[in-house]
Amino acid sequence: MRFDYHTHTPLCRHAQGSPAEMIAAAQAAGLAEYGISDHNPMPTQFDQWRMAPHELPQYLAWVEQARAAAPNLPIRLGLECDFIPGYEDHIRSLATAHPWDYLIGSVHYIHTDWDVDSPFKLDRWNQQPVEDVWSAYFARLEQAVESRLFDFIGHLDLVKKFGHLPNGDLRRFYRGTLDRLEATGTAIELNTAGWRKPAAQAYPSPEILREACRRGIPILVNSDAHAPAEVAADFDRAYRILHEVGYRSLVRFQQREPIPTPIG
Ligand code: ZN
Ligand code: FE
Ligand code: FE
Ligand code: ZN
Repeated sequence: MRFDYHTHTPLCRHAQGSPAEMIAAAQAAGLAEYGISDHNPMPTQFDQWRMAPHELPQYLAWVEQARAAAPNLPIRLGLECDFIPGYEDHIRSLATAHPWDYLIGSVHYIHTDWDVDSPFKLDRWNQQPVEDVWSAYFARLEQAVESRLFDFIGHLDLVKKFGHLPNGDLRRFYRGTLDRLEATGTAIELNTAGWRKPAAQAYPSPEILREACRRGIPILVNSDAHAPAEVAADFDRAYRILHEVGYRSLVRFQQREPIPTPIG
């Protein structure tokens, strides 16, 4: 079975397509489940690419309406949460306030004011060595996994988005993250959005996927859709890669319980 658990809504101010339009696309793609996981609200408006704190009830209402409108398609309630040191208690209180099916842990910010995936901050890449940016990104990702706040980690090597790659064997950057994923039982996703970005490679790389599979780290396949045309985008290609690296099962989530599922 196929499903798509990483998708956005217009509440984040950079996605198009109502939940109803997104779900129509999910049904057209033959998905067996659809999960909505917009960017989490922060305690106060933090940046320009997420819902405001007062919009969370509207988000929850949209998911309820989507469930009522598509009784034959299970709709999961998720949230893509930014891991930012100092905001752990905020995530903890969000986690207990609503009946989430899963929380995605993502690192976008490596410093307070630099979200490394921002197309508006590309000049920052010229101000420090690529190695330092990768080290800072993965150090924070390790903290995110260790926090145990999340069911799975979003776009594991997002830092490559614009094609900035250090030289040599990249294992020195991500090995510690895989160690912690394995130790905590946290899952990852194969996120097809990377194919739509300058990196032209899904997140994470096939090398990381192969090592994650060897270590028994559970996985899902997601599109990170910000528009209806992106729902389930490149899933055939993604599932081929999963099979090539050795994965034979996926994980689904219901009320934050992992459900192992054969790929079939
Ligand atoms: Zn987004
Ligand atoms: Fe993200
Ligand atoms: Fe996302
Ligand atoms: Zn994302």
